[in-house]
Amino acid sequence: MLSPRQLFLQHQAQTTDFPLLLEVEKAKGVFMYGPNGERYLDLISGIGVSNVGHRHPKVLQAIHDQLDKYLHLMVYGEIVQTPPAQLAHALAQTLPAGLDNVYFVSSGSEAVEGACKLAKRYTGRTELIAFNNAYHGSTHGSLSLNGSESFKRAFRPLLPDVRHIQHNVLEDLHFITSRTAAVILETVQGEAGVRVPSLEYMQALRERCTEVGALLILDEIQSGFGRTGTFWAFEQFNVVPDILTCAKGMGGGMPIGAFISRQEIMHSLKNDPMLGHITTFGGHPVSCAASLATLRVIQEEDLLTQVNAKANLFKERLVHPAIKGIRNQGLMMAVEFESFDLLKAIIDNAILKGILTDWFLFCDNSMRVAPPLTITLAEIDEACDLIMKAIEEEVG
Ligand code: PMP
Repeated sequence: MLSPRQLFLQHQAQTTDFPLLLEVEKAKGVFMYGPNGERYLDLISGIGVSNVGHRHPKVLQAIHDQLDKYLHLMVYGEIVQTPPAQLAHALAQTLPAGLDNVYFVSSGSEAVEGACKLAKRYTGRTELIAFNNAYHGSTHGSLSLNGSESFKRAFRPLLPDVRHIQHNVLEDLHFITSRTAAVILETVQGEAGVRVPSLEYMQALRERCTEVGALLILDEIQSGFGRTGTFWAFEQFNVVPDILTCAKGMGGGMPIGAFISRQEIMHSLKNDPMLGHITTFGGHPVSCAASLATLRVIQEEDLLTQVNAKANLFKERLVHPAIKGIRNQGLMMAVEFESFDLLKAIIDNAILKGILTDWFLFCDNSMRVAPPLTITLAEIDEACDLIMKAIEEEVG
Protein backbone atom coordinates (compact mmCIF):
# COMPACT_ATOMS: atom_id res chain seq x y z
CA MET A 1 0.00 0.00 0.00
CA LEU A 2 1.58 3.28 -1.11
CA SER A 3 1.53 6.20 1.31
CA PRO A 4 -0.31 9.41 0.39
CA ARG A 5 3.07 11.04 -0.22
CA GLN A 6 4.09 8.27 -2.65
CA LEU A 7 0.73 8.47 -4.41
CA PHE A 8 1.05 12.24 -4.63
CA LEU A 9 4.48 11.97 -6.25
CA GLN A 10 3.50 9.16 -8.58
CA HIS A 11 0.05 10.20 -9.76
CA GLN A 12 -0.43 13.91 -9.18
CA ALA A 13 0.94 16.40 -11.67
CA GLN A 14 3.90 18.11 -10.09
CA THR A 15 3.93 21.88 -10.34
CA THR A 16 7.26 22.84 -8.84
CA ASP A 17 10.79 21.57 -8.31
CA PHE A 18 10.39 22.41 -4.62
CA PRO A 19 7.08 20.99 -3.37
CA LEU A 20 6.70 21.53 0.36
CA LEU A 21 5.74 17.85 0.76
CA LEU A 22 4.14 18.45 4.13
CA GLU A 23 1.44 15.98 5.01
CA VAL A 24 -1.46 17.71 6.66
CA GLU A 25 -4.31 15.83 8.30
CA LYS A 26 -6.18 18.67 9.85
CA ALA A 27 -6.15 22.44 10.02
CA LYS A 28 -7.77 24.84 12.45
CA GLY A 29 -7.32 28.58 12.94
CA VAL A 30 -3.71 29.50 12.16
CA PHE A 31 -2.42 25.93 12.52
CA MET A 32 -2.03 22.89 10.28
CA TYR A 33 -1.44 19.49 11.85
CA GLY A 34 0.48 16.53 10.43
CA PRO A 35 -0.25 12.80 10.94
CA ASN A 36 2.45 12.41 13.60
CA GLY A 37 1.57 15.31 15.82
CA GLU A 38 3.48 17.93 13.81
CA ARG A 39 2.10 21.44 14.14
CA TYR A 40 2.72 24.22 11.63
CA LEU A 41 1.87 27.86 12.16
CA ASP A 42 0.59 29.01 8.80
CA LEU A 43 2.09 32.30 7.57
CA ILE A 44 0.89 31.73 4.01
CA SER A 45 -2.89 31.27 4.39
CA GLY A 46 -2.97 29.17 1.23
CA ILE A 47 -1.70 32.28 -0.60
CA GLY A 48 -4.10 34.77 0.88
CA VAL A 49 -7.07 32.41 1.17
CA SER A 50 -7.57 31.57 4.84
CA ASN A 51 -8.01 35.19 5.94
CA VAL A 52 -10.41 34.15 8.72
CA GLY A 53 -8.29 31.12 9.61
CA HIS A 54 -8.74 27.49 8.68
CA ARG A 55 -12.21 26.07 9.26
CA HIS A 56 -13.69 29.05 11.01
CA PRO A 57 -16.72 27.68 12.94
CA LYS A 58 -19.12 30.18 11.37
CA VAL A 59 -17.90 29.34 7.87
CA LEU A 60 -18.27 25.61 8.64
CA GLN A 61 -21.78 26.18 9.96
CA ALA A 62 -22.79 28.08 6.82
CA ILE A 63 -21.39 25.25 4.66
CA HIS A 64 -23.24 22.59 6.70
CA ASP A 65 -26.49 24.55 6.51
CA GLN A 66 -26.25 24.84 2.74
CA LEU A 67 -25.27 21.16 2.32
CA ASP A 68 -28.64 20.31 3.85
CA LYS A 69 -30.49 22.37 1.21
CA TYR A 70 -28.97 21.91 -2.23
CA LEU A 71 -25.65 21.74 -4.07
CA HIS A 72 -25.30 22.59 -7.74
CA LEU A 73 -28.60 23.21 -9.50
CA MET A 74 -27.93 24.76 -12.87
CA VAL A 75 -25.37 26.70 -14.90
CA TYR A 76 -24.75 30.14 -13.38
CA GLY A 77 -27.33 32.86 -13.83
CA GLU A 78 -30.49 30.86 -14.54
CA ILE A 79 -32.04 29.97 -11.19
CA VAL A 80 -32.67 32.23 -8.21
CA GLN A 81 -30.60 30.91 -5.32
CA THR A 82 -30.42 32.58 -1.95
CA PRO A 83 -26.65 32.32 -1.20
CA PRO A 84 -25.37 34.15 -4.32
CA ALA A 85 -28.19 36.71 -4.14
CA GLN A 86 -27.44 37.53 -0.51
CA LEU A 87 -23.70 37.51 -1.09
CA ALA A 88 -24.00 39.92 -4.03
CA HIS A 89 -25.98 42.27 -1.80
CA ALA A 90 -23.47 42.01 1.04
CA LEU A 91 -20.54 42.63 -1.32
CA ALA A 92 -22.26 45.70 -2.76
CA GLN A 93 -22.57 47.07 0.76
CA THR A 94 -18.78 46.93 1.18
CA LEU A 95 -18.28 48.90 -2.04
CA PRO A 96 -18.75 52.51 -3.19
CA ALA A 97 -22.24 53.34 -4.43
CA GLY A 98 -22.91 52.06 -7.93
CA LEU A 99 -20.35 49.25 -7.83
CA ASP A 100 -23.07 46.77 -7.12
CA ASN A 101 -23.40 44.20 -9.88
CA VAL A 102 -21.63 40.91 -9.25
CA TYR A 103 -20.77 38.12 -11.66
CA PHE A 104 -19.73 35.04 -9.68
CA VAL A 105 -17.18 32.64 -11.13
CA SER A 106 -15.02 29.80 -9.79
CA SER A 107 -11.50 31.19 -9.48
CA GLY A 108 -9.27 34.22 -9.66
CA SER A 109 -8.12 33.53 -13.20
CA GLU A 110 -11.72 33.21 -14.32
CA ALA A 111 -12.61 36.51 -12.65
CA VAL A 112 -9.81 38.18 -14.62
CA GLU A 113 -11.00 36.54 -17.86
CA GLY A 114 -14.53 37.79 -17.22
CA ALA A 115 -13.40 41.29 -16.31
CA CYS A 116 -11.34 41.65 -19.49
CA LYS A 117 -14.09 40.28 -21.70
CA LEU A 118 -16.54 42.67 -20.08
CA ALA A 119 -14.22 45.64 -20.70
CA LYS A 120 -13.82 44.68 -24.37
CA ARG A 121 -17.54 44.24 -24.82
CA TYR A 122 -18.45 47.49 -23.08
CA THR A 123 -15.87 49.72 -24.75
CA GLY A 124 -15.79 48.01 -28.15
CA ARG A 125 -12.00 48.30 -27.92
CA THR A 126 -9.42 45.53 -27.85
CA GLU A 127 -6.24 46.75 -26.18
CA LEU A 128 -5.51 45.64 -22.62
CA ILE A 129 -2.77 47.23 -20.55
CA ALA A 130 -1.09 45.50 -17.64
CA PHE A 131 2.05 46.03 -15.60
CA ASN A 132 5.57 44.71 -15.23
CA ASN A 133 5.70 41.86 -12.72
CA ALA A 134 1.92 41.64 -12.52
CA TYR A 135 0.29 38.30 -11.73
CA HIS A 136 -3.30 37.80 -12.86
CA GLY A 137 -3.63 34.06 -13.37
CA SER A 138 -2.75 31.02 -15.36
CA THR A 139 -5.39 30.65 -18.08
CA HIS A 140 -4.39 31.88 -21.54
CA GLY A 141 -6.01 35.31 -21.21
CA SER A 142 -4.91 36.02 -17.67
CA LEU A 143 -1.46 34.57 -18.42
CA SER A 144 -1.14 37.09 -21.25
CA LEU A 145 -1.51 39.86 -18.68
CA ASN A 146 1.25 38.58 -16.42
CA GLY A 147 4.26 40.83 -16.38
CA SER A 148 6.98 38.23 -16.14
CA GLU A 149 8.26 36.80 -19.40
CA SER A 150 9.52 33.56 -17.87
CA PHE A 151 5.98 32.23 -17.34
CA LYS A 152 4.72 33.24 -20.77
CA ARG A 153 7.53 32.28 -23.10
CA ALA A 154 6.53 28.67 -23.65
CA PHE A 155 2.91 29.47 -24.42
CA ARG A 156 3.14 32.07 -27.17
CA PRO A 157 1.26 33.21 -29.15
CA LEU A 158 -0.88 34.59 -26.35
CA LEU A 159 -3.64 37.21 -26.39
CA PRO A 160 -2.90 39.89 -28.99
CA ASP A 161 -3.09 43.60 -28.19
CA VAL A 162 -1.77 43.38 -24.66
CA ARG A 163 0.77 46.01 -23.64
CA HIS A 164 2.80 46.07 -20.45
CA ILE A 165 3.87 49.32 -18.85
CA GLN A 166 6.08 50.03 -15.83
CA HIS A 167 4.45 49.79 -12.44
CA ASN A 168 4.07 53.02 -10.50
CA VAL A 169 5.74 55.13 -13.22
CA LEU A 170 3.79 58.27 -14.11
CA GLU A 171 5.69 58.75 -17.39
CA ASP A 172 4.18 55.54 -18.80
CA LEU A 173 0.56 56.61 -18.35
CA HIS A 174 0.52 58.16 -21.83
CA PHE A 175 0.49 54.62 -23.26
CA ILE A 176 -3.13 54.45 -22.09
CA THR A 177 -5.11 55.87 -25.00
CA SER A 178 -8.53 55.90 -26.66
CA ARG A 179 -7.61 52.47 -28.10
CA THR A 180 -7.41 50.98 -24.61
CA ALA A 181 -10.33 48.86 -23.42
CA ALA A 182 -8.96 48.45 -19.91
CA VAL A 183 -5.98 48.81 -17.65
CA ILE A 184 -5.67 46.00 -15.12
CA LEU A 185 -3.70 46.55 -11.93
CA GLU A 186 -3.29 44.65 -8.70
CA THR A 187 -4.04 47.36 -6.14
CA VAL A 188 -1.06 45.96 -4.26
CA GLN A 189 1.12 43.74 -6.43
CA GLY A 190 1.33 40.33 -4.76
CA GLU A 191 3.58 37.93 -6.62
CA ALA A 192 5.96 40.78 -7.46
CA GLY A 193 6.76 40.69 -3.74
CA VAL A 194 4.26 43.19 -2.29
CA ARG A 195 4.74 46.37 -4.33
CA VAL A 196 2.60 49.28 -3.23
CA PRO A 197 1.88 52.09 -5.70
CA SER A 198 1.93 55.70 -4.53
CA LEU A 199 -1.29 57.60 -3.86
CA GLU A 200 -0.27 60.12 -6.49
CA TYR A 201 0.22 57.37 -9.05
CA MET A 202 -3.13 55.73 -8.33
CA GLN A 203 -4.95 59.00 -8.72
CA ALA A 204 -3.15 59.88 -11.94
CA LEU A 205 -3.92 56.40 -13.29
CA ARG A 206 -7.61 56.78 -12.44
CA GLU A 207 -7.69 60.22 -14.10
CA ARG A 208 -5.93 59.00 -17.23
CA CYS A 209 -8.33 56.08 -17.64
CA THR A 210 -11.35 58.38 -17.25
CA GLU A 211 -9.86 60.93 -19.66
CA VAL A 212 -9.44 58.42 -22.51
CA GLY A 213 -12.49 56.25 -21.72
CA ALA A 214 -10.52 53.15 -20.70
CA LEU A 215 -11.91 51.05 -17.86
CA LEU A 216 -9.82 50.59 -14.74
CA ILE A 217 -9.85 47.01 -13.49
CA LEU A 218 -8.44 46.57 -10.00
CA ASP A 219 -7.42 43.00 -9.23
CA GLU A 220 -8.00 42.42 -5.51
CA ILE A 221 -7.84 38.66 -5.72
CA GLN A 222 -4.93 38.69 -3.28
CA SER A 223 -5.33 42.10 -1.60
CA GLY A 224 -9.10 41.97 -0.96
CA PHE A 225 -11.22 40.61 1.87
CA GLY A 226 -9.34 42.44 4.59
CA ARG A 227 -5.78 41.38 3.81
CA THR A 228 -4.41 44.96 3.80
CA GLY A 229 -6.40 46.33 6.75
CA THR A 230 -9.39 47.70 4.85
CA PHE A 231 -11.98 45.42 3.31
CA TRP A 232 -10.66 46.38 -0.14
CA ALA A 233 -7.13 47.71 -0.56
CA PHE A 234 -8.29 50.40 -3.01
CA GLU A 235 -10.09 52.17 -0.14
CA GLN A 236 -6.63 53.34 0.99
CA PHE A 237 -5.85 54.97 -2.35
CA ASN A 238 -8.92 57.17 -2.88
CA VAL A 239 -9.75 55.59 -6.21
CA VAL A 240 -12.73 53.58 -7.39
CA PRO A 241 -12.33 50.94 -10.10
CA ASP A 242 -14.75 50.38 -12.97
CA ILE A 243 -14.37 46.64 -12.51
CA LEU A 244 -13.11 44.81 -9.43
CA THR A 245 -11.91 41.20 -9.36
CA CYS A 246 -11.82 39.07 -6.22
CA ALA A 247 -11.36 35.40 -5.27
CA LYS A 248 -9.01 33.60 -2.84
CA GLY A 249 -9.88 34.94 0.66
CA MET A 250 -13.42 35.53 -0.51
CA GLY A 251 -14.47 31.91 0.02
CA GLY A 252 -13.03 31.36 3.48
CA GLY A 253 -11.41 28.20 2.06
CA MET A 254 -14.02 27.36 -0.59
CA PRO A 255 -13.42 28.03 -4.31
CA ILE A 256 -15.12 31.16 -5.62
CA GLY A 257 -14.31 34.32 -7.55
CA ALA A 258 -16.18 37.32 -8.88
CA PHE A 259 -15.91 40.34 -11.08
CA ILE A 260 -17.93 43.30 -9.97
CA SER A 261 -18.97 46.41 -11.86
CA ARG A 262 -21.67 48.99 -12.36
CA GLN A 263 -24.95 47.70 -13.77
CA GLU A 264 -24.62 49.77 -16.89
CA ILE A 265 -21.28 48.11 -17.68
CA MET A 266 -22.23 44.61 -16.58
CA HIS A 267 -25.36 44.57 -18.69
CA SER A 268 -23.29 44.80 -21.85
CA LEU A 269 -22.28 41.21 -21.24
CA LYS A 270 -25.78 39.90 -21.77
CA ASN A 271 -26.63 41.95 -24.86
CA ASP A 272 -26.74 40.38 -28.28
CA PRO A 273 -24.87 38.19 -29.09
CA MET A 274 -26.02 36.32 -26.04
CA LEU A 275 -23.85 34.59 -23.53
CA GLY A 276 -20.92 36.86 -22.85
CA HIS A 277 -19.52 34.50 -20.26
CA ILE A 278 -20.62 31.01 -19.29
CA THR A 279 -19.62 29.24 -16.12
CA THR A 280 -21.08 26.00 -14.81
CA PHE A 281 -19.89 26.23 -11.24
CA GLY A 282 -19.62 30.01 -10.85
CA GLY A 283 -21.45 31.15 -7.73
CA HIS A 284 -21.69 27.63 -6.32
CA PRO A 285 -24.23 27.87 -3.49
CA VAL A 286 -21.95 26.24 -0.90
CA SER A 287 -19.08 28.58 -1.82
CA CYS A 288 -21.40 31.58 -1.69
CA ALA A 289 -22.71 30.57 1.73
CA ALA A 290 -19.11 30.19 2.95
CA SER A 291 -18.19 33.55 1.43
CA LEU A 292 -21.07 35.37 3.09
CA ALA A 293 -20.09 33.89 6.46
CA THR A 294 -16.46 34.92 5.82
CA LEU A 295 -17.50 38.49 5.06
CA ARG A 296 -19.58 38.61 8.25
CA VAL A 297 -16.72 37.19 10.35
CA ILE A 298 -14.37 39.91 9.07
CA GLN A 299 -16.93 42.53 10.05
CA GLU A 300 -18.22 41.04 13.32
CA GLU A 301 -14.83 40.03 14.74
CA ASP A 302 -13.49 43.47 13.93
CA LEU A 303 -10.51 41.92 12.17
CA LEU A 304 -9.72 44.95 10.02
CA THR A 305 -8.84 47.31 12.87
CA GLN A 306 -6.23 44.86 14.21
CA VAL A 307 -4.37 44.29 10.95
CA ASN A 308 -1.87 47.13 11.21
CA ALA A 309 -0.97 46.44 14.86
CA LYS A 310 -0.30 42.82 13.91
CA ALA A 311 1.80 43.83 10.90
CA ASN A 312 3.74 46.28 13.06
CA LEU A 313 4.58 43.56 15.57
CA PHE A 314 6.10 41.46 12.76
CA LYS A 315 8.09 44.52 11.66
CA GLU A 316 9.32 45.23 15.20
CA ARG A 317 10.35 41.65 15.80
CA LEU A 318 11.91 40.78 12.43
CA VAL A 319 15.06 42.88 12.70
CA HIS A 320 18.38 41.31 11.70
CA PRO A 321 21.32 42.34 9.49
CA ALA A 322 20.32 39.53 7.07
CA ILE A 323 16.91 41.19 6.58
CA LYS A 324 17.28 43.86 3.92
CA GLY A 325 13.84 45.37 4.38
CA ILE A 326 10.15 44.66 4.82
CA ARG A 327 7.48 45.81 2.37
CA ASN A 328 3.87 45.59 3.44
CA GLN A 329 0.34 46.80 3.13
CA GLY A 330 -1.34 45.46 6.24
CA LEU A 331 -0.77 41.71 6.59
CA MET A 332 0.38 41.36 3.00
CA MET A 333 4.09 41.38 3.79
CA ALA A 334 7.41 40.62 2.08
CA VAL A 335 10.58 40.21 4.12
CA GLU A 336 13.59 40.70 1.88
CA PHE A 337 16.86 38.76 2.12
CA GLU A 338 20.07 38.97 0.09
CA SER A 339 19.49 35.92 -2.07
CA PHE A 340 17.12 33.09 -2.90
CA ASP A 341 19.64 30.56 -1.55
CA LEU A 342 19.70 32.17 1.88
CA LEU A 343 15.92 32.64 1.93
CA LYS A 344 15.31 29.02 0.88
CA ALA A 345 17.60 27.76 3.66
CA ILE A 346 15.76 29.91 6.21
CA ILE A 347 12.34 28.79 4.95
CA ASP A 348 13.36 25.10 5.10
CA ASN A 349 14.77 25.59 8.59
CA ALA A 350 11.62 27.44 9.74
CA ILE A 351 9.39 24.64 8.48
CA LEU A 352 11.32 22.18 10.65
CA LYS A 353 10.57 24.52 13.55
CA GLY A 354 6.87 24.52 12.67
CA ILE A 355 6.62 27.83 10.78
CA LEU A 356 5.18 27.63 7.30
CA THR A 357 6.16 30.31 4.83
CA ASP A 358 7.48 30.62 1.26
CA TRP A 359 8.61 33.12 -1.36
CA PHE A 360 6.86 34.94 -4.22
CA LEU A 361 6.52 33.82 -7.85
CA PHE A 362 8.33 36.88 -9.22
CA CYS A 363 10.41 37.79 -6.19
CA ASP A 364 12.42 34.89 -4.90
CA ASN A 365 14.54 36.76 -2.36
CA SER A 366 11.56 37.75 -0.22
CA MET A 367 9.69 35.72 2.39
CA ARG A 368 5.90 35.75 2.19
CA VAL A 369 4.27 36.68 5.48
CA ALA A 370 0.49 36.65 5.11
CA PRO A 371 -1.03 34.81 8.06
CA PRO A 372 -4.74 34.49 8.75
CA LEU A 373 -5.97 37.88 9.97
CA THR A 374 -7.14 36.04 13.10
CA ILE A 375 -3.56 35.39 14.25
CA THR A 376 -2.99 36.60 17.83
CA LEU A 377 -0.14 38.80 19.03
CA ALA A 378 1.19 35.84 21.05
CA GLU A 379 1.21 33.67 17.91
CA ILE A 380 3.06 36.41 16.01
CA ASP A 381 5.64 36.50 18.82
CA GLU A 382 6.04 32.72 18.60
CA ALA A 383 6.41 32.88 14.80
CA CYS A 384 8.99 35.66 14.99
CA ASP A 385 11.02 33.87 17.71
CA LEU A 386 11.28 30.81 15.47
CA ILE A 387 12.03 32.75 12.27
CA MET A 388 14.78 34.69 14.09
CA LYS A 389 16.20 31.38 15.35
CA ALA A 390 16.15 29.99 11.80
CA ILE A 391 17.93 33.12 10.51
CA GLU A 392 20.61 32.89 13.23
CA GLU A 393 21.24 29.24 12.42
CA GLU A 394 21.48 29.81 8.67
CA VAL A 395 23.52 33.04 8.73
CA GLY A 396 25.78 31.75 11.49
N1 PMP B 1 -4.77 37.69 -9.49
C1 PMP B 1 -3.96 37.78 -8.42
C2 PMP B 1 -3.55 39.12 -7.92
C3 PMP B 1 -3.51 36.62 -7.79
O1 PMP B 1 -2.68 36.72 -6.73
C4 PMP B 1 -3.93 35.36 -8.29
C5 PMP B 1 -3.48 34.07 -7.63
N2 PMP B 1 -2.22 34.09 -7.07
C6 PMP B 1 -4.77 35.32 -9.40
C7 PMP B 1 -5.18 36.50 -9.97
C8 PMP B 1 -5.26 34.00 -9.98
O2 PMP B 1 -6.12 33.37 -9.10
P1 PMP B 1 -6.41 31.78 -9.25
O3 PMP B 1 -5.16 31.06 -8.87
O4 PMP B 1 -7.56 31.54 -8.30
O5 PMP B 1 -6.80 31.52 -10.65
